[in-house]
Amino acid sequence: MLHGPVDGTIECDNGNVEVRSGFNSNMVNTPYGGKLKVSLDLKNQEKHIEGLKGMTQVEPFTDFFYDSLKLGDGAYSPLEGFMSEEEANSVMKKKSLLNGLPWTIPIIFTINADMSDGLRPGDQIALLDPTHRPYGEMEVETKFKLDKKEIAESIYGTKEMKHPNVQDLFEKYGDKAISGRVKIYRDPELPGGAYERHPSEVREEFTKKGWKNVVAYQARNPPHVAHEYLQKVSLEFPGIDGLFVHLVVGRLKKGDYKANVILDSYDALIRNYYRMEKTMMGSLSITMRYAGPRASIFLAIIRRNYGATHYIIGRDQAGVGNYYDPYAAQRIFDELDVGMIPLKFKDTFYCKRCMGITSESVCPHAIGDRMIISQTNIREMLRTGQEIPTEILRPEIARILKKGDVINEG
Ligand SMILES: [Zn+2]
Repeated sequence: MLHGPVDGTIECDNGNVEVRSGFNSNMVNTPYGGKLKVSLDLKNQEKHIEGLKGMTQVEPFTDFFYDSLKLGDGAYSPLEGFMSEEEANSVMKKKSLLNGLPWTIPIIFTINADMSDGLRPGDQIALLDPTHRPYGEMEVETKFKLDKKEIAESIYGTKEMKHPNVQDLFEKYGDKAISGRVKIYRDPELPGGAYERHPSEVREEFTKKGWKNVVAYQARNPPHVAHEYLQKVSLEFPGIDGLFVHLVVGRLKKGDYKANVILDSYDALIRNYYRMEKTMMGSLSITMRYAGPRASIFLAIIRRNYGATHYIIGRDQAGVGNYYDPYAAQRIFDELDVGMIPLKFKDTFYCKRCMGITSESVCPHAIGDRMIISQTNIREMLRTGQEIPTEILRPEIARILKKGDVINEG
């Protein structure tokens, strides 16, 4: 059931970059690439912010605003800055960074045409948050034209505008991109609020709790009972000390739930149904990449940087529409080793004959015996005012979802 080596360290062929750290080691997982790359400096904040005044002031598009903060606090280690054209091309074509480490999503910073004329390699720019206040800086290393078609096809597997990230790419991203390192001097307000913590803080908390093997759960939706099942079955694995529910609440797509709804739902679930000493929840305010398997690898790398050792992958993780094979996100972990042990689960549902939540791997009964649990049918029941069966959704969560104004209108 567990995939990959269970202990020890493997050196990568390229430049001694450590890929896998250990299961059953005496500490939480090592950061990806060996070290947390942090350029976040919250000391001397006033002095730093004062120093930004003379620079060209740039307010990045939301996606890059979020990414800059994760580059700063080490969540995207070993990356330290926005990618150059060569690095982004390597990610698109080879699914790896220029140093050979597997990486699947290009982290780019695009600018519009008027801004592009004024920016040259070597320039220092001040970064402004959505309230127009400076929070960090970036040194422009290179400037290049973005091949949007290539990104859409290689990362998302489609050029169709109904794919949310592809639509953003063509309609909201600029045509040129700049690369370079970032430095962050302030913690701007984020959708995750107090749940948004830096990898170093989360790692420290795991260590304080005595957790070594931590299973991370990726979510961007309020939990139904099948999610709960995956999380609790994972906690049953021998050697797993804790569960880290990490909720992507940055920019989601139209029709997804709002950040506070996702956070409140998980908070209610955990308080009522989980062993608190084995569970921790946190937010990850980034733009969701609905890139199926490529997104799964990216999201697993981030969780490694927060200290997790294991990663839960259910059916169609990080998918949207029918763009990806529902199990491609699991298979890509056989191809790419990012030092996380994937826990792969088949489709889960409520079976009337088993009288409980079960999955395709263990339930022998007919499809007709299943109550399919999906956000779509929960949404439909809410819309039409039906009572949602407790076999599908905990009543505490149903109450939160019934409040209205819960859906992100885009
Ligand atoms: Zn059954």
